[in-house]
Amino acid sequence: MGSKEDLRKLPSVDAVLNEAEVRGLAREHGRDVVLWAVREVLEETRQAILEGAPLSKPSELIGRVTARVSEIMQPSLQPAINATGVIIHTNLGRAPLSEAAREAMQAVARSYSNLEYDLEAGQRGSRYHHAQALLTRLTGAESALVVNNNASALLLILSALARGREVIISRGQLIEIGGGFRIPEVMAQSGARLVEVGTTNRTYARDYEQAVTERTAAFLRVHHSNFRLVGFTHQAALSELVGLARQRHLLTIDDLGSGALLDTAAFGLAHEPTPQESIAQGADLVCFSGDKLLGGPQAGIILGRADLIASLREHPLARALRVDKLTLAALQANLLHYLRSEALEKVPVWRMIAWRAEELHSRAVAWSTALGEIDVATSVIEGHSPIGGGSLPGETLPTYLLAIDTPAPDALAARLRASQPPVIARVEEGRLVLDPRTVLPEEDAIFIDALCVALNA
Ligand SMILES: *Cc1c(COP(=O)(O)O)cnc(C)c1O
Repeated sequence: MGSKEDLRKLPSVDAVLNEAEVRGLAREHGRDVVLWAVREVLEETRQAILEGAPLSKPSELIGRVTARVSEIMQPSLQPAINATGVIIHTNLGRAPLSEAAREAMQAVARSYSNLEYDLEAGQRGSRYHHAQALLTRLTGAESALVVNNNASALLLILSALARGREVIISRGQLIEIGGGFRIPEVMAQSGARLVEVGTTNRTYARDYEQAVTERTAAFLRVHHSNFRLVGFTHQAALSELVGLARQRHLLTIDDLGSGALLDTAAFGLAHEPTPQESIAQGADLVCFSGDKLLGGPQAGIILGRADLIASLREHPLARALRVDKLTLAALQANLLHYLRSEALEKVPVWRMIAWRAEELHSRAVAWSTALGEIDVATSVIEGHSPIGGGSLPGETLPTYLLAIDTPAPDALAARLRASQPPVIARVEEGRLVLDPRTVLPEEDAIFIDALCVALNA
């Protein structure tokens, strides 16, 4: 039982700071950090004694101080190894960046840049100029604008072009993307009035037509990013909406979500609509994320008519939603991979999509061999890698998984998450499974180390 006696015996801050081990910590991490840790640990111990706990041994106290210092010094955002097989995993930071994109970010981070400086004229330029030419060349759009993310893109478009007016959308497209992001709520924020048409499963072009009033500003199409509409269904084609909108002098806005520049059907997946197709079909504005199937940094990319893009740039919200130089640098480098037709080899998410099943089989077998010494039942089994991240819902790529048979797969998954770097795995049918598709080949060695440690624990 804790007592007054125990409280009295609690060492002083200075006494703990004077312990050899704690002095070592102070030399390594600085005195302030160690002082915070000691004060926190002593205060917690005092509270615990007041609640009846016995006084901890001095070695325990010092152990807690050491642990607290590492906790303080470990930034909470850190790299992780994704062994789930989910290629665009929003919780794990979506797209890993290519080497060129990483280098481009470093280069503009290290020194000054011409972010908003016109080198020819020697005066103020515009940051919006930077990725624009690459985006228009790749997609056939007249103009382009990059903002913070796709939710911002939609908010900016609707605020600038439909505030106080009506925007018509199919009931089958009033989606929630995830993390509570709902299309109707973004529309409400923008000051545009949502007009729902059709039914959950079927919406025809005539439904849009019948809903047009003198207050209508636009038709909005939203791509079904994370669910599938199957069975007795119909959605009006983008080209039909464009035809109708032109007759009525309305805008057609297309929220594509993912922004795949390459054809996903080449990999046995369903065809994900591309920005090029939306532009060719006449959408006035198209928006999508930079970090889904485009495989770049977080960004919202808006393509379309030059006059409309110009008014978006001038809107006060554009300033609030603007991208920083690191994003622009990474985005430009990422777009260059597509321009050079090397995206399948260089853009990590496309390299992952393009892995052939035999290659994944060899890697899973190599992992299993690397665990050779450890007494654990492993097998290489067939599995499926989901695309994830609101791209191609329900679609998967055939893969091979390393399955680990253990009586407590959840405990093993927790130990893997606690490794440095953390490894994120899946538990399926009572086994822990690891998918080589999303583990970068250069991470293989640390991945195997983490696995060995977690299995031996
Ligand atoms: C993912 C997605 C968004 C949100 O994009 P962020 O870049 O995450 O802001 C919006 N619309 C659709 C259709 C999406 O799939």
